[in-house]
Amino acid sequence: MRPSIDQASLMAWFAGHQRNLPWRATKDPWAILLSEILLQQTQVSRGIVFWQRLYSRYPTVEEMASSTEEEVLHLWQGAGYYSRARRLFQLSKRVCESSEHGGFDGVLPTDSKTLQTLPGIGPYTAAAVASIAHGEAVACVDGNIRRVMARQTANENPSPNLVQEWADQSLWKADAGNWNQALMELGATLCTPNRPNCATCPVQSSCLGMAEPTRYPAPQVRTKKRVDLMCILRVDAHGLPELVQRGSTGILAGMWGPVMGETLDVDSLTYLGEVHHVLSHRDMHIRVWKGKVETGVDPKSVPLSSLDVKILRLGGVD
Ligand code: SF4
Repeated sequence: MRPSIDQASLMAWFAGHQRNLPWRATKDPWAILLSEILLQQTQVSRGIVFWQRLYSRYPTVEEMASSTEEEVLHLWQGAGYYSRARRLFQLSKRVCESSEHGGFDGVLPTDSKTLQTLPGIGPYTAAAVASIAHGEAVACVDGNIRRVMARQTANENPSPNLVQEWADQSLWKADAGNWNQALMELGATLCTPNRPNCATCPVQSSCLGMAEPTRYPAPQVRTKKRVDLMCILRVDAHGLPELVQRGSTGILAGMWGPVMGETLDVDSLTYLGEVHHVLSHRDMHIRVWKGKVETGVDPKSVPLSSLDVKILRLGGVD
């Protein structure tokens, strides 16, 4: 496979059309790392809000390492996929450990290979940070780039290896950071899943799938697993709920919320209703009962997931 994408045309388009995103105004690897981790599973518009919140509180990796996991989770509240926040905190701790103990003396590694040894950093994030912040000639592959590749080569179902090979061969090594961002920007703004704007595309001359772009890549069938849970929302005389910290594993690990489980004793409690919450791989149905507790917790004092906020609202707790 020989990619024939017009590199100069794509780079010129990116220079003139890229979105004004706050992390693009800096080469600070920590700022770029924060943005890449946030954007993994958060839309750009919301990602900007959370990036500003995190970067102003933690302008350096050391600032985060000297914070607490609970405070990081609190700032992450509403961004979802909280394991990212926990791993980011672990990463900050690891980076700030002494090199004698396997750390990096407070300095983020600069190359993609070493970045991948840190908690929560996979090949994509490592390549993005190393290329954008340090100019390493390494190609990123994300969902946007896979879609551009599938259309450019008219391949309905390209394998991960084939997409990586195309990205590696297409890479503009002289400016890998901007090249990676340009390809991702193309996928995010012009070569979109449902309405690609081929008429203004800077790389239409090499696009084999342009006549029928939405055919590529074929939609991936994702089945969501249904999860049924029970929850008891106990409230004190002042309207404050009982909140417990979740365990160290699972999608809500480290967050706080009302007692929840597969089976709970709800005899003599009042049934409130069901909360429905959809995640990328899970379809959650939570049946909620209301009870009483001696002393509750101020919900604003602890990190709560969006699911728990919904449960509290069902019980009239804000
Ligand atoms: S011509 Fe259309 S389908 Fe091809 S890369 Fe450009 S926007 Fe995507």
